Amino acid sequence: MKLEEIHAQLKQLDESQSLRTRRTLNGPQGVQVTLDDSDYLSFCSNDYLGLANDPRVVTAAVDALQQHGVGSGASQMISGYSTQHASFEKELAYFLGVERVLLFSSGYLANLGVVSALSSRHSAVFSDRLNHASLIDAAKLSDAKHQRYHHRDHQGLERLLQKTDATNKLILSDGVFSMEGSIAPLAELIALKKEHHALLLIDDAHGLGVLGEKGIGSAEQLQVNPEDIDLLIGTFGKAFGSSGAFVAGKHDLLEYIMQKARSLIYTTAAPAALIAACAKSLDIIQNEPTRRGRLQDNIAYYREQIKRLQQPSLDSISAIQSIVLGDNDTVIRLSQQLAAEGILVLPIRPPTVPANSARLRITLSSEHSKVDIDRLITALQQYL
Ligand SMILES: *Cc1c(COP(=O)(O)O)cnc(C)c1O
Repeated sequence: MKLEEIHAQLKQLDESQSLRTRRTLNGPQGVQVTLDDSDYLSFCSNDYLGLANDPRVVTAAVDALQQHGVGSGASQMISGYSTQHASFEKELAYFLGVERVLLFSSGYLANLGVVSALSSRHSAVFSDRLNHASLIDAAKLSDAKHQRYHHRDHQGLERLLQKTDATNKLILSDGVFSMEGSIAPLAELIALKKEHHALLLIDDAHGLGVLGEKGIGSAEQLQVNPEDIDLLIGTFGKAFGSSGAFVAGKHDLLEYIMQKARSLIYTTAAPAALIAACAKSLDIIQNEPTRRGRLQDNIAYYREQIKRLQQPSLDSISAIQSIVLGDNDTVIRLSQQLAAEGILVLPIRPPTVPANSARLRITLSSEHSKVDIDRLITALQQYL
């Protein structure tokens, strides 16, 4: 790409209010944050259970740092796979009710590695149009033919499955969609994957820890058999309040992925201290269901309050609540008005979401109080 073209493109991004910028977080993640020296009540982190700065999680990481040092020093396949990694994989598999879990350094890498490992020129990958970017990239980077169906449209998927002549089929879907908060029609996807002998991958980054009585996620929420999801992807950057990811499933399938997934083999293992933090979060997720209860109460309360505003809120029982307003200018103006009131809600614009569907993406946490939510609703009422 030529430099002039780069300049032209940057200018165009700026003029269409699409330029991305970063602000600097000063201090830990939480419902109260300091960004660029201003204090905000935040509705834009994925730390759904307030674990990112939980003292017990921090202590677990510090203890493991003392014991294991900082860096893991190598790939999992060489010498970076510690006792922390090994025991956490087992605990997580037990929690999820699956045979085996493999850890990855991030959700993005997990999706890339798993989809590529299972794809060849004779495969077809079928994705929901609103899947997370990492799944879309995974499909694009694989050798498979990539076909997309409309959001949650299992009948559209069925038509694609009927027409394909691919010998290997892989269906990809978010469990909870990251910008909509909607949930995939898991029972229908499972029926289709069985009928058409496809593999089903569900990326439940936003369901894990949040949905279902035990926090197992979308599968528990919709009461489908976890064994029917061939590949469950989960991430630790959301409800776990940490960083990293995993794929869960049957032993042999995961053994194959471990042999083939380049983003697992050719990357440094996550630090043991991070894994220790994840293990502590898992402990809390299992033993403190009241956190999930508080989050569910907050979601219900928000939904009840937002109804009064008669705004185009997407129907979501997850912690992700989006108000789709359409054009970039409107969401940017609203976000700025809320910021002036000390409330942080960021505008989400294309290409993160489809054209003309810019939105405010509000995420709720177990640590928000009703008063916090009232403040948000009052401000929205004033400016929407
Ligand atoms: C956040 C997210 C990812 C990426 O996970 P990281 O660990 O942050 O790389 C993947 N899939 C979905 C649905 C996500 O929301």
